[in-house]
Amino acid sequence: MGAALSARAVPTRTPLHALEYDYPKWLALCAEMEISQTHADRIRAHIFRSGQLHAEIPNIPRRLKRHLEALDWNLPKVERAPVAKDGSCRMRIRLRDGTRIESVLLPIDGRLAQCISTQAGCALGCRFCRTASLGLARNLSHAEMLMQLFLGWRRAGTKPRNIVLMGMGEPMHNLDHVLRFVRTLADPKGLAISPRRITLSTAGVVPGILRLARERAPCQLAISLNAADDATRTQLMPINRRWPIGELLAAARHYCEQTKRKVLIEYVLIAGVNDAAEDAERLARLLAGLPCAVNLIPFNEHEAAPFRRPSPASVDAFRAILRRHGFLAIVRESRGGEIQAACGQLAAAG
Ligand code: SF4
Repeated sequence: MGAALSARAVPTRTPLHALEYDYPKWLALCAEMEISQTHADRIRAHIFRSGQLHAEIPNIPRRLKRHLEALDWNLPKVERAPVAKDGSCRMRIRLRDGTRIESVLLPIDGRLAQCISTQAGCALGCRFCRTASLGLARNLSHAEMLMQLFLGWRRAGTKPRNIVLMGMGEPMHNLDHVLRFVRTLADPKGLAISPRRITLSTAGVVPGILRLARERAPCQLAISLNAADDATRTQLMPINRRWPIGELLAAARHYCEQTKRKVLIEYVLIAGVNDAAEDAERLARLLAGLPCAVNLIPFNEHEAAPFRRPSPASVDAFRAILRRHGFLAIVRESRGGEIQAACGQLAAAG
């Protein structure tokens, strides 16, 4: 009898994680506890500024303290974190339900940039991408995106200055949570990261681009274009069947008009597929008049894709054509190649 009673008394519900409280939810909780907004803001800033997640917050009303102590303040486990020669570190993280994701830390000139995953796996099936081979396991919550950041902060000993949403997943397929995350990053009472230093990258989900424009999301937009004609792009990125280049770039132009911002065009250069001089000329025509910068990323070879990296000479020639047409075109060597932390190489099996 006693044993039966105590078995029933064991709480089975996992406590809510402290990071689940985005700003509106936090204000609602504090209002319920008759805590003023100024005080609520001060407590929230304390939680986010120190980088030390814990419930020990000085000078808070006892009833709020009791509530906070009942929350989960633990960060998930980092199972592996290999560090490349260039200092980049690929964290393999095991979430509470056992799902595995990856996040990459990129120290650059004494400052930290972090690449965050928005989904476990990805449904889009881009042919050059290692994550695609996993398929989609599930969306990540905005709290799970914040957990990646706090883990990175703890490991590197410094708050990331730049955040790129270019890890595993298509951010636009999880946009409610992504926007809550981005707003917490940019909120002066949250992580206070400049919106100019937060970049959301999409494979080309047009309704998502229009929503970013409509809601003036506090981040920069990057579009992973990767081809200058529909046949090649559809071959590389099946999403192009749904939103072909014309429709995608029309959405990009609308975004620029509405937000008065530039977009970043990302172009993974693949030998013999999209790196010819004609591709560069066609790309220049497509992008004419679009306020943009172009990042050229020589393909990082891996076993899940049948493609080759282009020669340095063809990368230079491609960039030279874009520059001749007046574009700001930069070759981005993705870092962390030897630990599979480079663009398109993230693949923590679930
Ligand atoms: S490149 Fe991005 S959108 Fe495409 S499959 Fe990989 S993770 Fe998904």
